Amino acid sequence: MPQSYILGATGDTVSTETNSDGTKTVAFQGVDIHDFSWTASPDFQLIEDSWQGSAGAVKIRLLMSPGHLRQAGRYLQSVKGTLAMFDRWYGPYPYDRITVVDLPNGAGNAGGMEYPTLITGGTTWWEPRGIRGVELVTEHEFGHQYWYGMVGSNEFEESWLDEGFNTYSTGKVMDVAYGPIGVPVTLLGLRAGGLFDLSRTGKPPQSC
Ligand SMILES: [Zn+2]
Repeated sequence: MPQSYILGATGDTVSTETNSDGTKTVAFQGVDIHDFSWTASPDFQLIEDSWQGSAGAVKIRLLMSPGHLRQAGRYLQSVKGTLAMFDRWYGPYPYDRITVVDLPNGAGNAGGMEYPTLITGGTTWWEPRGIRGVELVTEHEFGHQYWYGMVGSNEFEESWLDEGFNTYSTGKVMDVAYGPIGVPVTLLGLRAGGLFDLSRTGKPPQSC
């Protein structure tokens, strides 16, 4: 791809070669995974951070799209908090990185999706903190690293195993992080709860 493009992908970068025609060739390797995804854009702004888990350090690569940079801290806080809770409740995160992709305006249909060590989120430049969309989607898609990823549930044929467990764990993390009964939305001091109370709605969230 063009040398100016910023890349995100499943796994670790093992080599980068610059070519005489202005392109570059980048190779990635992932171990103990069953799926693969990558993304590239000249407009991504890469923000790197890290988190120390019980199985070692985890590199966090956040690819922010134009106009959304003010929301970067929310992504980082959300993914770190979720890593900590999953590490404590469900077991060590065994990979050495997680890439979070913030989608550009108009690409929302690619948001809220999970791939091994890479998830897509979504926000706008205006999203207020009271609407926990950034946090909710980031946490939920990260949770799939465990159920669809490590447990290896078939998300197509037995989605209840993947989405079911993940919806439960999403509610549990949101409860601890933002208050009881899984409260994703706070507006003007009012809370709209129960989105993840499956006994009440019987449905998973809209994102997958
Ligand atoms: Zn999901």
